Amino acid sequence: MEKQEMICILCPLGCKMQVTEKPDQPGELTVRGLQCKKGKQYAYEEYTNPTRTLTSTVVIHNAPRPRLPVKTNKPLPKGLVFQAMEKINKVELDGPVHIGDVIIKGLLGTDIDVVATRSLE
Ligand code: SF4
Repeated sequence: MEKQEMICILCPLGCKMQVTEKPDQPGELTVRGLQCKKGKQYAYEEYTNPTRTLTSTVVIHNAPRPRLPVKTNKPLPKGLVFQAMEKINKVELDGPVHIGDVIIKGLLGTDIDVVATRSLE
């Protein structure tokens, strides 16, 4: 029986949860320690397919600041985060850039884009 401990990050209560997969029913989970239904959904997603919205910065030239803040427009599978950061860290671009502009289209072959989160003219 696989057991995983996690903290729900959906609200400030931060419930500590214990997620256990039923040995005779793969994919069926028992979740203890939460205080609402939203937490159960979070536990299922975090256990089966954890994802993260990635935020970072990239180098920008010809702009009032040296780095442009960016983020993924959708949550990325957690297992791709380090590869994604390697790709983002190689980006250098020239201003101007407007908020929402796509900086990397189809990150790592996914349908996820990296977009600018502020304008730098
Ligand atoms: S389980 Fe519910 S109450 Fe607990 S942290 Fe998550 S959202 Fe908040």
